[in-house]
Amino acid sequence: MQGLIQEGDGEEHVRLSDNLEHAAALGPRQVRVEIMAAGVCGSDLSCVHGKYYMPTPLVPGHEAAGVVAEIGSAVTYCAVGDHVVLSTFGNCGHCPTCEGGDPGNCGFGGLRHTHTEGDQALWGFANLGAFAQETIVHENQAVPIPPEVPLASAALIGCGVMTGAGAVFNRAKIGIGDTCVVIGAGGVGLNVIQAAHLSGASQIIAVDRVASKERMATDFGATDFILVDGDDFDSVAAVQQLSGGGVDHAFEVVGSTKLLADSISMAKAGGNVCAVGVPDLTATVTYPFQALHQNKNLMGIRAGGGKPRRDFRLIADMYLKGRFKLDELVSHTAGLDGLQGAFDALKAGAEARTVLLPNG
Ligand SMILES: [Zn+2]
Ligand SMILES: [Zn+2]
Repeated sequence: MQGLIQEGDGEEHVRLSDNLEHAAALGPRQVRVEIMAAGVCGSDLSCVHGKYYMPTPLVPGHEAAGVVAEIGSAVTYCAVGDHVVLSTFGNCGHCPTCEGGDPGNCGFGGLRHTHTEGDQALWGFANLGAFAQETIVHENQAVPIPPEVPLASAALIGCGVMTGAGAVFNRAKIGIGDTCVVIGAGGVGLNVIQAAHLSGASQIIAVDRVASKERMATDFGATDFILVDGDDFDSVAAVQQLSGGGVDHAFEVVGSTKLLADSISMAKAGGNVCAVGVPDLTATVTYPFQALHQNKNLMGIRAGGGKPRRDFRLIADMYLKGRFKLDELVSHTAGLDGLQGAFDALKAGAEARTVLLPNG
């Protein structure tokens, strides 16, 4: 099969191969999935640049949807032909944490090889390795959705949508009339905005450095847009002024330690500060202590605190009822050879998502 291989740190170390195979035969609780769509997320760029400290050689890609082609003898959760969204949580499904309802906190069993090329075993990013025509995953990582949801749109549920909307629904728990700021209006930030809108926020301030993001942010529910006009622009003062002294919830979605520190100052006393974006995983954050001291809650949020079997289906159902935007997040589609173009678009910050279609 075709797939992408990352052989070192840097975009120049990713190449397309025609000779990928599955790393092992299908296990009893595994499913083989034909990957029909895989979004290119900021985390893919970070991974390729070594900021996730993944071992290489590696098959990148982690935000995907496809069709179940084969199931192991003990699989009960999916059937052949099911449309599935892949989950980045390779959780065990039976430990106290999983049974307690927090699959994202399961101390799942580490990274595994998903594919091979000749004699070379390849790691799979997020235990998925989604930039390939097929992958084999545990049935916990394949969540069936209604087949009416287009797979290019469904793919985004697995990471960008869940990361943004889950930060609101599962962690910040925005209440009717609450105010918020969302720093970064890309693929994830737009989902923070639409989830805040669905939750009844009275003011949603989007902050971005790209002027063309204003229209999309407004379409997704933002009430105000602040254009960061150069490095000296004082976003904290702008948010303080627009909100009348600070917001109930400040979401940092860019993955900048500087902006995370700023977002602490944007929250009002007693407010939430939500670290949604992911900087280099070894980064250190410094912030003015007095800003946090006013009973504010600083939250680390991984993948929207998601419960994939509940949340993926919920989002798909809301989409089918016209209550949740997904199609608008897909800016472009391309083949597996379109990864570099997608990275260039991500770096320019000009679009929501490019989705790769590994099977055409
Ligand atoms: Zn577990
Ligand atoms: Zn992602």
